[in-house]
Amino acid sequence: MISFQSKLPKTGTNIFSVMSALAQQADAINLSQGFPDFECSPELVSLVNQAMQQGHNQYAPMTGLLSLREAIAAKTQELYGASYHPDNEITVTAGGTQAIFTAICATIHPNDEVIIFEPAYDCYAPAIQLMGGVVKRMELEPPDYRINWTMVRRLISSHTKMVILNSPHNPTATVLQEEDIRELISLTHKTDILILSDEVYEHIIFDGQPHRSMARYPELAERSLIVASFGKLFHITGWKVGYCMAPAWLMNEFRKIHQFNVFSVNTPMQYALADFLQVKEAYLGLADFYQQKRDYFRSGLESSRFELLPCAGAYFQSVKFNHISEDNDLLFAKTLIDRVGVAAVPNSAFYSKKTDFGILRFCFAKKQETLTKAVEQLLKV
Ligand code: GLN
Repeated sequence: MISFQSKLPKTGTNIFSVMSALAQQADAINLSQGFPDFECSPELVSLVNQAMQQGHNQYAPMTGLLSLREAIAAKTQELYGASYHPDNEITVTAGGTQAIFTAICATIHPNDEVIIFEPAYDCYAPAIQLMGGVVKRMELEPPDYRINWTMVRRLISSHTKMVILNSPHNPTATVLQEEDIRELISLTHKTDILILSDEVYEHIIFDGQPHRSMARYPELAERSLIVASFGKLFHITGWKVGYCMAPAWLMNEFRKIHQFNVFSVNTPMQYALADFLQVKEAYLGLADFYQQKRDYFRSGLESSRFELLPCAGAYFQSVKFNHISEDNDLLFAKTLIDRVGVAAVPNSAFYSKKTDFGILRFCFAKKQETLTKAVEQLLKV
């Protein structure tokens, strides 16, 4: 018998894979895992074809295709007034999750403390633990999930290395406000604390609110690794392409890890993305596109028995169900698949202590037909 010690003994398969598999088995409408069920732009697909046919099928540069990094720099400059140099401050990654993992791997030493806010996307804590870091969790509560900055200050110690933020937020659909930014600036001022800012839903923000990217604020940008995702931007989650931006000294460390982790990202996709980023409407129209879906889904569920939580950004709608059932949220989510054929994610999955507020998360990045059917079924609850 081989003796072996797991590096993540308590970790099972992530909730998105679990719920998607259950949805598939039951042939249910899958509003659990966050991904669009509609096609990306055909132009994007033909740009990839073209790139392949033109022979762009070997390794891309380790840091990403220069024309893509230039397009990212131009977009960031235009939207957030921030200048990131394509040569040494932007790296193309194999999706947001890889960028997050690499950022944590490049910065966290054993015993470094990292503050995360829960509910949190599920990849943050394991990555910190794998580096020997200590996860300092702060639980946020529904319905508004506001960050209590006085409490955050209490979590800061001489070991605090990083704070991880995510706006627009998965799963709660909240967005950082100006007041949060002010607090963050004062909290980190004259410290060595880094910020890892997961901004993969930056363009999916509703009701005319601006996305408060760390890039906009020089005091924060100087200590931030910003993570973005083309999967969310262009409905291509399966391509697994994203990027990370950081000041040169930090990006240098990021690249030291990136080169041994993925080395480089698929070449034809990068050619296509560099071209497609020139069409600004493709991403500037995203907020309106998803706001219509949000509004349809919310108004459809208004007469249901669920209580809708606010939704200011990202493509998730949370609902409260604990006045309907006393089941825990995982059990309720499974019952929902069996009884009405709709799959959701139980929000306790986003808390390390599995805190259960009786809330489910639905993804509304779905075609009209799917949303119509889902609403119809959910009204039967
Ligand atoms: N980001 C998506 C979600 O929150 C899915 C990512 C994944 O499946 N790992 O559902």
